[in-house]
Amino acid sequence: MTTENVQDELTIPEAEWNSSMFNLAQQQFLGASKLMGLDENIRNRLLFPQRAQIASFPCRKDKYSEVETVFGYRVQHVLTMGPTKGGIRYHEDVNLGEVSALAMWMTWKCALMHLPFGGAKGGVRINPAEFSRSELQRLTRRYTMEFVNMIGPDKDIPAPDMGTNAQVMAWIMDTYSQQVGYTAPEIVTGKPIVLGGCKGREEATGRGLVYLIQEAALHIGIDLKNATAVIQGFGNVGRNAATFLEQLGVKIIGISDVSCGLYSEKGLALSAIDDHLQKNGTLVGYKDASQISNNELLELECDILAPCALQNQITDQNAPYLKCKMLAEGANGPTSLEADKILWDRGVFVLPDILGNAGGVTVSYFEWVQNTQEFAWTLEVVNERLHHIMVEAFQRTLMRSQRDNVDMRTAALLEGIARVAEAKLLRGVFP
Ligand code: NAD
Repeated sequence: MTTENVQDELTIPEAEWNSSMFNLAQQQFLGASKLMGLDENIRNRLLFPQRAQIASFPCRKDKYSEVETVFGYRVQHVLTMGPTKGGIRYHEDVNLGEVSALAMWMTWKCALMHLPFGGAKGGVRINPAEFSRSELQRLTRRYTMEFVNMIGPDKDIPAPDMGTNAQVMAWIMDTYSQQVGYTAPEIVTGKPIVLGGCKGREEATGRGLVYLIQEAALHIGIDLKNATAVIQGFGNVGRNAATFLEQLGVKIIGISDVSCGLYSEKGLALSAIDDHLQKNGTLVGYKDASQISNNELLELECDILAPCALQNQITDQNAPYLKCKMLAEGANGPTSLEADKILWDRGVFVLPDILGNAGGVTVSYFEWVQNTQEFAWTLEVVNERLHHIMVEAFQRTLMRSQRDNVDMRTAALLEGIARVAEAKLLRGVFP
């Protein structure tokens, strides 16, 4: 095999930092820091992550002779606020820039919600659908070992994100526990309940988003009982958000996953779609709705549009044509800088990602607290505390937006950055 052939077979990103997501996160941060007149030294400290580690490691496939080399990442953006916290993503587009953007957003999110964490994120550049369960288990355990000195209950606490779930967290927890010689449930959040997971964690991101939608609806005058919603993404966040909206009487007229979108003017039956998904593994072929593209889905006329799939979905190409009153962001980074300006001019009310999807990390915080205290809360307590924290953060963001006459994203960033900057100033520079 020639050198050229070898390069063809390996996916080597041209430049690890060269990512549109990291550029978006940095530009959002720079824009907000300019508005608030952020100290230049602090700005420069926050523009790049404090720690980032890349590892290439082997994953033995089920066919014993096959070993695949994969790339894994863990990024800790800010260590000032306490341990760092952030999910682990298994996706074929993962690179250092993407993980760094997600880590930076975690910092602002935790600060905005007044949680005692800095931001982190991790990932492995694979398509998890192409790995068997046993391959995923081996890959997860090896990933954990590669980063075992970086993570820890008082250092950096991973959680699920796209492509990972409670089972992956259980494998990480087990691998870490084998290393330290005792069971350490507090090393990850989003675990199965029987291993110390928190009641309500799995649905917390969707639930938190819907708590905010209720507040925003009151603010802009939408009657949820007569409202319609469109949701992009039918995974953890999108599926749960759809359920809670349906419970409030909202008509879900559009949903989508990676395969296609579904539209029904009279409303979609979520449980029938679940049955179809269970049998077919895809939304394609579902009978009681029209099949539409993801682009068509985003431009449907509705009260609430909730992007709950992936980044870079609302851009200058489609923002002028969105027909929603509220954009409720469950996904991280779904909206570009240019689209933000267009939505602001058009009067679309935005629940920005660092607020919109913060229910997940908030209940992850509850899980960590319960693990460290070895005391489990009831679901009622979890939901009541989640509701309280979400509503308070919404009010803080709205007040800042009205006071400074800025959009909700800028207001949320200003709130988060100001808190981190204050902590940095108080701690000072070592030595
Ligand atoms: P998931 O893997 O459970 O679901 C993702 C969904 O998006 C799937 O239905 C998938 O089919 C769909 N999808 C993928 N590509 C798509 C495309 N091109 N067009 C339309 N749909 C597509 O992931 P998740 O945990 O629900 O995460 C979704 C988003 O929410 C991510 O941006 C993630 O970072 C963010 N988020 C998740 C959590 C959490 O607790 N899970 C917390 C905060 C933020």
